[in-house]
Amino acid sequence: MPRVLLLAGTTEATVLAGRLVALGAEVISSLAGVTRSPVGRAGLVRSGGFGGVEGLVRYLVEQSIDAVIDATHPFAAVMPFHAAAAAAAVQIPRCRLLRPAWQPVEGDRWVPVTDIEAAIVAVSREGARRVFLTVGRQTAGAFAACRDVQFLVRAIEPIAGVLAGAEVVLQRGPFGLEDEIALLSTHGIDTIVAKNSGGTATAPKLAAARQLGIRVIMIDRPAQPAGPVTQFVEDAVDWFERLSRAALRT
Ligand code: NAP
Repeated sequence: MPRVLLLAGTTEATVLAGRLVALGAEVISSLAGVTRSPVGRAGLVRSGGFGGVEGLVRYLVEQSIDAVIDATHPFAAVMPFHAAAAAAAVQIPRCRLLRPAWQPVEGDRWVPVTDIEAAIVAVSREGARRVFLTVGRQTAGAFAACRDVQFLVRAIEPIAGVLAGAEVVLQRGPFGLEDEIALLSTHGIDTIVAKNSGGTATAPKLAAARQLGIRVIMIDRPAQPAGPVTQFVEDAVDWFERLSRAALRT
């Protein structure tokens, strides 16, 4: 069975670790180390950056890794490129697990934007006053540039000082439709700023926005490296099983 480095940070990565370990694979899940209390998972776990492409190359060699599955978040803009470069350098297979993006449906009031900077511009241009900001704590601070806007931010862990004046609710997903409708209504939200993460865990906020007629400034995903992409956990399991069968034949 190949020894797999699974770049994690998503629900899919946690599920995939369980599926691969159940198949008998040796799995090392790698976390960036940004969440203080990450969820438990099957297999081994390491935490913290590798030190760029060079550090990752060293790690792959030292740990005798046979394959890399990159199941980082669709908005992880750096790690996928590092994984692609490092796997190519040591000539081992790599695949990206990237869930499908959300698509607008009838009744949605989406304002599509290309990146965070464009979202900041759109908040002012659209005349937003009470904004539910769901972009993650690392990028929330950039919205301090918006004037006369009251922000509501949801986070897993306290984020004091990330965005001065913002109201913070501490919750870990998944969130239900009724909860989202209640949250948006209670806070008088007129605009949501969201990353197009895809998946089901945070999708109810979009259905809630549709029902309430709230605009959504939707930030497009960053570029991805070339190479094999699987959209769902089962596809990544198939990829791994094909790899294992090929390894057995050689
Ligand atoms: P990023 O910009 O792609 O990566 C920045 C640096 O963090 C990388 O160069 C790497 O450091 C380290 N890193 C990232 N993912 C890692 C992993 N799984 N294991 C070890 N090191 C990792 O990523 P990010 O946007 O900062 O996200 C960090 C983590 O949070 C990722 O694992 C991602 O899946 C998760 N996450 C991100 C978002 C988001 O919106 N960006 C949302 C939910 C979860 P070195 O160069 O030193 O190796």
